[in-house]
Amino acid sequence: MAGDVCVRSNLESDPSAPPGATAALTRMDREQPLTASAARMGNSKLPSVGTTIFTVISALAQEHGAVNLGQGFPDFDCDPRLQQQLAQAVAAGHNQYAPMAGVAALRAAIAAKVAAAYGHHYSAEAEITVTAGATQAIMATILALVSPGDEVIFLEPVYDSYMPSIVLAGGTPVPVPLDHTHGYAPDWERIRSAVTPRTRLLLLNFPHNPTGRTLRAEDIRALEELVAATGILVLSDEVYEHIVFDGVPHRSIAASPALAANAVVISSFGKTFHTTGWKIGYACAPAHLTAEIRKVHQFMVFAVNTPAQHALAAYLQDPAPYLGLPAFYQAKRDLFCAGLRSSRFELLPCEGTYFVLARYGAISNESEADFVRTLVTRHGVAAIPIAGFYLQPFEAQVVRFCFAKKEETLRAALERLVRV
Ligand code: PMP
Ligand code: GLN
Repeated sequence: MAGDVCVRSNLESDPSAPPGATAALTRMDREQPLTASAARMGNSKLPSVGTTIFTVISALAQEHGAVNLGQGFPDFDCDPRLQQQLAQAVAAGHNQYAPMAGVAALRAAIAAKVAAAYGHHYSAEAEITVTAGATQAIMATILALVSPGDEVIFLEPVYDSYMPSIVLAGGTPVPVPLDHTHGYAPDWERIRSAVTPRTRLLLLNFPHNPTGRTLRAEDIRALEELVAATGILVLSDEVYEHIVFDGVPHRSIAASPALAANAVVISSFGKTFHTTGWKIGYACAPAHLTAEIRKVHQFMVFAVNTPAQHALAAYLQDPAPYLGLPAFYQAKRDLFCAGLRSSRFELLPCEGTYFVLARYGAISNESEADFVRTLVTRHGVAAIPIAGFYLQPFEAQVVRFCFAKKEETLRAALERLVRV
């Protein structure tokens, strides 16, 4: 075992390998000295977790003056109207603790938005909790619902915060791979066979970071059958719900009554309104699950940023900004992908999110982490190795580019990438 983490693996690979997003960055992070106090710490609760791959790559990009298409954040600003609404909320004196579950006006606005988009009516009072970003919603949900010995299934490649959340709850991580030979489709046979009497929770994330895969109608049907047959709960991370392309609708778990009754649906205004720094997200779940999540939430943060909640409540009154998001990001995807077609990178399909994967096998046979280092230091563009999204070491010669960038940034990156 790497440290104290026990993984129930479906991959027939070594369960003792370092877990989580750290596998690929272990090498990139190795120069970090162990401080004296860390050495004295002894038993870490997350022994093999280092600095996240996103932070490591952003620092490397900065050090080398590279165009940063690594960490997922826009390099353009949010709507000036939203900025004004924040300033107004501060000036209006909304500067003390918010209610624990969230500002009432924001919860009402979220309930209305979800009902309009997916037809499910969550109670603003009892079923919606405003959180410090999706990250905290995920951690609070897992701590609330997972007990020591429970198994938690997730699909790899996987977002980096899931695994540490499971481990801190005392749960057993059960990774199931997305089928990378078929466009990273979920393999429902494989997911079903990973369920045991100990399975508590299935973690899903669609549109999926890093692959951009979205859910099909048949995926929802397979999931409904699985939940009906096994009674497992679902955590559905839908932070990219409004970043879907080519006219395909986002299929929220909330749109299926049978699933919504057994699910926690999580989203984030960071992605939807270009405000990753505000760290405001939310969790929607039936009242009995919300009650448990709030027990954890109130002692993790008690409540989250008050003026930002007021600003978002006002801004949400107009659906145009989030309804326009697919077209806004599709133009960026298309510009970036068109430019990369004259390079030696091979692009993979991107159905949603603001990330696109690219194979670099025609350029180099380096490991993903080494290739990214070369890309940053020699070519001046940062990307993320997708090995960083696997629990067990897995190399596919694929890197992730973030296209949530100004046109001039994308063009500057492309100029360099076509020469690689
Ligand atoms: N889930 C996924 C899949 C993400 O990509 C991210 C961040 N980009 C988060 C959760 C965290 O969202 P937040 O910044 O709102 O905490
Ligand atoms: N979610 C972002 C990404 O995938 C990063 C967020 C973070 O740095 N923790 O790039």
